[in-house]
Amino acid sequence: MNIILLGPPGAGKGTQARKLVDGRDMVQLSTGDMLRAARTSGTAMGKKVAAVMDAGNLVTDDIVIGLIREQLEDTSHAGGFIFDGFPRTLAQADALAELVAEMGQKIHHVVEMAVDDDALVARITARSTCGECGEVYNDNTKPWPADGKCANCGSTNQTRRADDNEDSLKTRLMAYYKQTSPLVGYYYAKGQLSAVNGLGAMDEVAGEIASVLD
Ligand code: AMP
Repeated sequence: MNIILLGPPGAGKGTQARKLVDGRDMVQLSTGDMLRAARTSGTAMGKKVAAVMDAGNLVTDDIVIGLIREQLEDTSHAGGFIFDGFPRTLAQADALAELVAEMGQKIHHVVEMAVDDDALVARITARSTCGECGEVYNDNTKPWPADGKCANCGSTNQTRRADDNEDSLKTRLMAYYKQTSPLVGYYYAKGQLSAVNGLGAMDEVAGEIASVLD
């Protein structure tokens, strides 16, 4: 089964994608993670996108579509793909439809994770992740363990994203409303959209997503 998690920054797409990977043998394809990896490894593309990402703007469609195409070609699809943070524009959505059709596949569900804006700001400014395993923490609801070690893998590498600050978040939210939110109507019209309440506790949201998928 191939699914898209759609929602603004901080809606919990990455957290829910990780749960689906663990529970259902699915493969998470996060363009944000791929772009951050390109920056860390210092590729020419990574250098090119760094300032755009830090400001909170979207990188060009060509770049992210290229990344997704590579991954789809290189990865065996196991229990299916979870598209996390992709597509973010109508052009990306059309490109994805073509890519999956070329593979003889389809998108089974688009899950919209609805969250109000105040909650997003609170979540994002409190967010940290483990630099080794990607486990997501929140200073208020799931703080980094007091012994300084990630509860999942034991690493001491707690990281905060460069774009998780209020200025860049405003730009990211604007990008979401201007460029990405039209996809809600696009997938509704295609009969693929289901909405879940992204404001609940992590397991409640996971339960709602499970009822959509099953
Ligand atoms: P994310 O981790 O999904 O929040 O993405 C972090 C940043 O990477 C975004 O603010 C964009 O600058 C860039 N990015 C990630 N995915 C996309 C995409 N599908 N289209 C354009 N830019 C993206």
